[in-house]
Amino acid sequence: MIVLKIGGSSLRSLDSLQQVTDIIVGMPETQKIIVLSAVSGVTNHLLRSAEEAVQTERKISGLLDYLEVLHRELIVASIRDPEIRHRTLDEMAYLLSRLEKLLYGVAYTGECSRRMRDLILSQGERLAVQLLAANLCDRGVEGIAMDGDKIDIVGSGDFGNGNAELELTSRLLPQHLLDPLRRGAVPVITGFFGRTEQGHTITFGRGGTDYSAAIVAYAMDAEELQIWKDVDGFLTADPEVVPDAAPLTYLAYEEAAELSYFGAAILHPRTVEPIAKKGIAAVIKNTYKPEAPGTRIGPERHLHQEIIKSVVANRKIGMLRLHGASLGQQVGFLKLAVSALSDADINIISVITAQTAVNLLLNKADVERSAAKIAGLQIPYLDHLEPVLDVALIGVVGEGIAETRGLAGRVFTAVAGAGTNVEMIASGASRVTQYFIIKESQLESTVQAIHTEFFRS
Ligand code: ASP
Ligand code: MG
Repeated sequence: MIVLKIGGSSLRSLDSLQQVTDIIVGMPETQKIIVLSAVSGVTNHLLRSAEEAVQTERKISGLLDYLEVLHRELIVASIRDPEIRHRTLDEMAYLLSRLEKLLYGVAYTGECSRRMRDLILSQGERLAVQLLAANLCDRGVEGIAMDGDKIDIVGSGDFGNGNAELELTSRLLPQHLLDPLRRGAVPVITGFFGRTEQGHTITFGRGGTDYSAAIVAYAMDAEELQIWKDVDGFLTADPEVVPDAAPLTYLAYEEAAELSYFGAAILHPRTVEPIAKKGIAAVIKNTYKPEAPGTRIGPERHLHQEIIKSVVANRKIGMLRLHGASLGQQVGFLKLAVSALSDADINIISVITAQTAVNLLLNKADVERSAAKIAGLQIPYLDHLEPVLDVALIGVVGEGIAETRGLAGRVFTAVAGAGTNVEMIASGASRVTQYFIIKESQLESTVQAIHTEFFRS
């Protein structure tokens, strides 16, 4: 049995939709489960719709029209059987009328809770599974559209950023899937969300369909998780910065997890967690180049000759420096700061402490808000707060980084050679990563210099 995650960019045009349908229909495996994202652009559109609806009801019908046209065109163009086409259009109309009610609810109350927003955002995936399941039926394969919350993919934690309840999901989900699989049907499941134990729809964070697919693979004991995207998988660097970056054919779980966490925008950062627990291999494939090997992710650790496998850079990272002469000695200070930020739903990416300063690595977008929250605590031994926005994070990832003598020296020699000043270094947090902070304006030249040093040949 294999689980296939299909991204929204693979659904956006008639060509790509047919391409993924071909891939699924042509697969030799007998048991296939599909986990699907919304058509690309739809989740952003829903997010905007929820925001607009808080202000006024006036724009709601226009916002719905956009979704109606987008999906209707795809349905009409791709499905030949008039009956299947009709049924799918009805299904779409039903989903859009539900969405309409939700948006008017938001407009009339003038507020959109996180729980409500998750319910609204989930509608994109619900539409998408109808579209793909119908395409499979049109090709003579019984595709069954299923909503993740209704088939007991269970999550907990904060709305907008839920975590899977893996054991509970493993007990409940197979009951919905085993019969259809046995008779050769293909479940087409919404990614991105599940339900809480109380039955509310909860999303797993943006890009969460990768994670959903890993949850399904875990719960169903799949042999393999295939993640179909519009890229070749992981590369030695971002090809926009390093045009000759090379594809990586294999990564260990931990390497893939670190690369995702630090911003190689390929996988949702928590995707590796469920599959690593069961030793399930994942492979990232390009929908437009199905014959290319893609990147395999699995349990074996391979030591690369040059140790480093990939250089990542992330511009979205900012810092908040907290200064105070005795900060490093204040018991309980971090707890205060961390809880103030987590109460405000701000995610702390990393903390680097010294005697007189604590540096919080945050998303740039959260830095000012975090400063205000911490200032609000009125901590006497905190002298001042310094938001730092013109920075970026660079990370090198590879099995053996922690143990290889002289490696850091080589990295920083290359960095210095590019004229880059390193603002801060963190290493040791993970065995396979070293990361540091530089000025954002030096991102390109720094990544190129490291890439040249390690991948010259
Ligand atoms: N559609 C959701 C998003 O855009 C989930 C996903 O694409 O994985 O964030
Ligand atoms: Mg998406």
